Amino acid sequence: MRATLIAGNWKMNGSLASNAGLLDGVRAGAAAVKAELAVCVPAPYLAQAQAALAGSAVSWGAQDLSAHDSGAYTGEVSAAMLGDFGCKFVIVGHSERRSYHVETDEQVAQKAVRALASGLTPIVCVGETLAEREQGATDAVVIRQLAPVLDAVGAQLGKIVIAYEPVWAIGTGKTATPEMAQQVHELIRNTLAQRDAAAAQKVQILYGGSMKPDNAKDLLSMPDIDGGLIGGASLKAADFLAIAQAA
Ligand code: PEP
Repeated sequence: MRATLIAGNWKMNGSLASNAGLLDGVRAGAAAVKAELAVCVPAPYLAQAQAALAGSAVSWGAQDLSAHDSGAYTGEVSAAMLGDFGCKFVIVGHSERRSYHVETDEQVAQKAVRALASGLTPIVCVGETLAEREQGATDAVVIRQLAPVLDAVGAQLGKIVIAYEPVWAIGTGKTATPEMAQQVHELIRNTLAQRDAAAAQKVQILYGGSMKPDNAKDLLSMPDIDGGLIGGASLKAADFLAIAQAA
């Protein structure tokens, strides 16, 4: 039985002042929630998240990391640095990074490996664009995105989390139906099982894309949907907790 994970992706939102209430609200509500909770905050606020959430049931993490260990990579943040701030999770390969920062499948795989090497759990995002879905290419895209990650993590497959995030559903208010999402989650699990059947049963596969309190229950009731990666709705503690309560 896989535990449910509800992870927030704050994206580039927040301030020291506004985060304080949000972090306190999530911390206060966590006791009433069975699902595991995590928030992935902008890097400058990791110390604030660590201070606010230490000792609570809520984990925290980052939204990206460098594919390199250390050195002359101005502006980048390494896995070890995230570890210094107590991060448990780091998102890798979010579609906004793939599209605005031209991250390749191979770079995403390297980032996942760096995360694992520092004891972090990478949340590896995959998902098709609207054009790719309309061309019937969803399965091929997801399999292509996963392949280098699975090659790179090898025997550590059981230590990663995957998020299926159809790009057309992110921040648009359009959600994949539970059946559409389940179909891709099953494909992902079968793809993992071809590498390691036992690990495939262990890996949490999250859905992301306009998950909200009113659609979370139906999505989370599908057999291969093990949680959610929540963007917009993670910016309000009440909505984020309501999603977790639906699990
Ligand atoms: C995301 O950015 O990972 C996401 C799922 O965003 P939203 O929930 O706003 O669609």
